[in-house]
Amino acid sequence: PPGLYVIPTPIGNLGDITLRAASTLARVSLLLAEDTRHTRKLLNHLPVGLVSDAGMPGISDPGSVVVAAAVAAGCPVTVLPGPCALVAALVGSGLPTEAFTFAGFLPAKSGARRLALERLASLPGTLVLYSPPHGLVATLREAAAVLGGGRRCCMARELSKLHEEFFRSTLDGALREFGEGGARVARGEIVLLIEGTAGGTDGGGGGASGSRSDPAAVER
Ligand code: SAM
Repeated sequence: PPGLYVIPTPIGNLGDITLRAASTLARVSLLLAEDTRHTRKLLNHLPVGLVSDAGMPGISDPGSVVVAAAVAAGCPVTVLPGPCALVAALVGSGLPTEAFTFAGFLPAKSGARRLALERLASLPGTLVLYSPPHGLVATLREAAAVLGGGRRCCMARELSKLHEEFFRSTLDGALREFGEGGARVARGEIVLLIEGTAGGTDGGGGGASGSRSDPAAVER
């Protein structure tokens, strides 16, 4: 049937393409990629596929603009469930998943980023952020200053790829590892997760230790 089909693509491992995504990709008359625009008329009369560079279109990429245009034009929208970095990172982090706030990429400038963190500081759920590798240390430093360095955090890196890693620690611990003079440099694609205020809303069944002191970093 005509309409917009939102098609998630792998975030790393090509084997993660779903059967439905592959068959829909083969069927659509037109494919919209991240930097392409098409007319409302076209959206109304053809089955149209939407993909982004990786993962679920519309999550921190321009896909949401296309979906909004389709909705405004009265065009039916079908979303295929599939790979999304934030979901994989949240589930693997060991931090509470019952409630979380996804804030995507924080502003690149330090002042605006700090302000954004201040707005997020009192939320009880796990905070999920996308971070370019070069912005990670500054974000960790500001998060430690604004939220407190004892908060547990997880860096989910290179998910579904060869060097996949869940680095679980606290903000202070992550800074010791990846900050200036630390043992390692943060590389690749990164989701940074930080526990909410007062340890989040988990009923206590979560996998991570409840200690707010600085546990040793555990990798994978
Ligand atoms: N639409 C995508 C999704 O569904 O996750 C996200 C697009 S956004 C432009 C790209 C960011 O997502 C990266 O900077 C990183 O923060 C995160 N990301 C994407 N793939 C990842 C992966 N394999 N491992 C960890 N983070 C990833």
